[in-house]
Amino acid sequence: MPVIRALPPELINQIAAGEVIERPSSVVKELVENSLDAGATRIEVDIEQGGARLIRVRDDGCGIAADELQLAVASHATSKIGSFDDLEHVASMGFRGEALASVSSVARFALTSRAQGQDTAFRIEVDGGKMQAARPAQHPQGSSVEVRDLFYNVPARRKFLRAERTEFAHIDDLLKSLALARRSVEFRLSHNGKPVRILKAARDEGAALQRVAEVLGEEFPQQSLRVDHAAAGLHLSGWVGLPTASRSQADSQYFYVNGRLVRDRIVAHAVRQAYADVLFHGRHAAFVLYLELDPAGVDVNVHPAKHEVRFREQRLVHDFLFRTLHEALAQTRAGHVGLPMQ
Ligand code: ADP
Ligand code: MG
Repeated sequence: MPVIRALPPELINQIAAGEVIERPSSVVKELVENSLDAGATRIEVDIEQGGARLIRVRDDGCGIAADELQLAVASHATSKIGSFDDLEHVASMGFRGEALASVSSVARFALTSRAQGQDTAFRIEVDGGKMQAARPAQHPQGSSVEVRDLFYNVPARRKFLRAERTEFAHIDDLLKSLALARRSVEFRLSHNGKPVRILKAARDEGAALQRVAEVLGEEFPQQSLRVDHAAAGLHLSGWVGLPTASRSQADSQYFYVNGRLVRDRIVAHAVRQAYADVLFHGRHAAFVLYLELDPAGVDVNVHPAKHEVRFREQRLVHDFLFRTLHEALAQTRAGHVGLPMQ
């Protein structure tokens, strides 16, 4: 008879980490999302050796109280939800309370934070699953998380890390997608000490479009139409690329649901249909679209990495997206290429 044993907490965290921490960019995603949830206006991401050696995310958000630092790193500990009802209405990027526990179980981890209204910062370190007591440290209001030697204790994962350049490209792509999600936040990315990307906070429509151009290319603003349409509790805004902006790969498709980048079957189908008669076979549309709806109308607790969502009213969402985009693109069919939508 095999013996049934309860797993030690450290191993539980490592197994959970396996679900969300696939590569360095997954760590960056979790940390930057935490910074966004903390209300940061400025987020700095420093990477060394494609993230294998160091990932550091610094923010000017609300910070963490000294006596909650250890709890922040514990699994299933979160400030974002407290009940099932909260889960149904969740508007933050995080809510599972697992990211810091997972990351700190597969890397050398440090968290330094100064909470709003406090004049001392504190730092905790976790190494090999062992957490030190919080010590006073220097830090302006906000938090810094340092993740060193990712997967140093998970050789199977470490082996699957790609070339430095490839891992960094994943991080850069991810940062671009987050920067499009929150255009009013300043993002800075550096690699091996060199600044790679500086995206200043976009405070107006012109600056927003500038940020879009930095991600999708300088030609994109001329090759796209502005969309802004609301009906039945759904609001779709953003930019749809004209056929001239289409690509040979589906790598310029950004669709956000309540600020979260998603890859959704219903969305993909509606978009594909809307573009069906304006795009040549094998071409892929480029777009940046934001769908806003009541958080209760969409379940984000479908996948640990939250790439997928489930709409309560799938048909309604599908038809709204299809009709809005189809109408916008109708102008290109009529030959009025480049005219903004009224
Ligand atoms: P979740 O984001 O799902 O709540 P995490 O493990 O990512 O879980 O973070 C745990 C908690 O630590 C968060 O709920 C939050 O209270 C706190 N936290 C993490 N990162 C930050 C940050 N950059 N600024 C402020 N608080 C943070
Ligand atoms: Mg989180």
